[in-house]
Amino acid sequence: MASERRQYSFFHRVRSTRSFHPLPSAPYPLLSMNVAFLGLGAIGWPMARRVAEAKFPLAVWNRTSSRAREFSETTRARHATSPADAVRDADVVITCLPNSPEVMSLLDGAEGLLATMRKGAAFVDCTSGEPATSRQIAERLREHGIDFIDAPVSGGVSGAEKGALTVMVGGDRAVLDRVRPVLESFGQKIVHCGKVGAGDALKAVNNALLAVHVWSTAEGLALLVKEGVAPATALDVINASSGRSNASMNLFPERVLTRAFPRTFRLALLDKDVGIAAAVASADAVPAPMLQLTAALWKLAHNSLGEVADHVETVKIIEQWAGVEIA
Ligand code: NDP
Repeated sequence: MASERRQYSFFHRVRSTRSFHPLPSAPYPLLSMNVAFLGLGAIGWPMARRVAEAKFPLAVWNRTSSRAREFSETTRARHATSPADAVRDADVVITCLPNSPEVMSLLDGAEGLLATMRKGAAFVDCTSGEPATSRQIAERLREHGIDFIDAPVSGGVSGAEKGALTVMVGGDRAVLDRVRPVLESFGQKIVHCGKVGAGDALKAVNNALLAVHVWSTAEGLALLVKEGVAPATALDVINASSGRSNASMNLFPERVLTRAFPRTFRLALLDKDVGIAAAVASADAVPAPMLQLTAALWKLAHNSLGEVADHVETVKIIEQWAGVEIA
């Protein structure tokens, strides 16, 4: 979109001395874009930190203000007092909230994004969201001359800290090209997937597969424990065989066998993701009994373990049902 805001100055990326993990090979020309980041949760925080370390002028906003204040104290970022305050100078606005309705809820009102967001700016929603709601948000923004792409991420908190996330993008490819330098501060593999909502749809299916693997690996290991096979032995064999997955190769050895169960990705959010995949399948009239069953099981786990449990803690339910511990 043509605009006087496109007259960006060029400078060279400076490698951050604070970052343990180096940024992509420097120096190379970078568009100097003002960035606003809204949503400093478990993954939003390290993503925003990478943006700050890449030297983009950054404003941050978080619903719980103390978290944004803490972030601004440890970076050069400006602590914004409202969504409207965060985006008033922004060329690129990034949101990373639980789901699309929360993103939609930030648009309106005197303190809302649309009160100050500039025509010609780009809105990048890194929330793992709902394709249909993202299309509604894109439509609302288009009425104000603002471009929208959905850009959910994968790779977890550790991937965000390393700047090694996968970013799946739906929307206009030219908008992605414009904001790519910002996405590269936290993303390693950045893929244009299709029209608005395509990134959300792909992310939901990816996470539904994660959910299938965590649940089914737990069931399989529980029965193997009852058969007298040590879980470490079972995983050693499975990981050299055709049943392996990220769950068997990483999550179970690092989090279940050790009983560490670190809280990095809330079960509530994975329940939400599988629910999105199942809902999209229903809306598209795609028979998907496995996805629908998986959605029901993760809803049950969410109801049972609550809002703060990590997704891998779901294994404890299967252990309880079977009367064994996978350790
Ligand atoms: P968290 O639950 O840790 O953080 C959620 C963030 O959203 C917080 O900043 C929270 O603010 C804010 N928030 C919640 N509700 C509202 C609201 N109604 N209005 C404004 N802000 C709100 O989530 P994550 O950071 O883990 O996840 C964010 C997104 O990224 C989700 O879509 C998730 O599925 C996805 N994701 C997460 C990954 C992970 O490993 N954690 C991996 C890949 C994707 P407050 O501080 O006030 O609570």
